Amino acid sequence: MGPLRILILAGLLYIGYRLIMRSLGKGSGTKDAKKRASAEKPEMITDVLVEDPVCHKLVPKQQAIQLEVKGETHYFCSRECSEHFLSEKGEEL
Ligand SMILES: [Zn+2]
Repeated sequence: MGPLRILILAGLLYIGYRLIMRSLGKGSGTKDAKKRASAEKPEMITDVLVEDPVCHKLVPKQQAIQLEVKGETHYFCSRECSEHFLSEKGEEL
């Protein structure tokens, strides 16, 4: 057993330590990515129901007809309802 053997052992231990630290770092990195992905998920949900202000039907946001009036977005089940809403708004104004 010479000092060379001890140096090699120390080197192996060091390499092993570096590998473990690197894999741990990778692990936490993917966890962070997963966290970020799950944080974005609520915005990705497309089947949010919105209420049609004309017939009060609940419509999936993606399928709803969007109409922006005075900076407010309204959602309608059909173009008929959006036109009805617009004509009502027109009477009000
Ligand atoms: Zn409607």
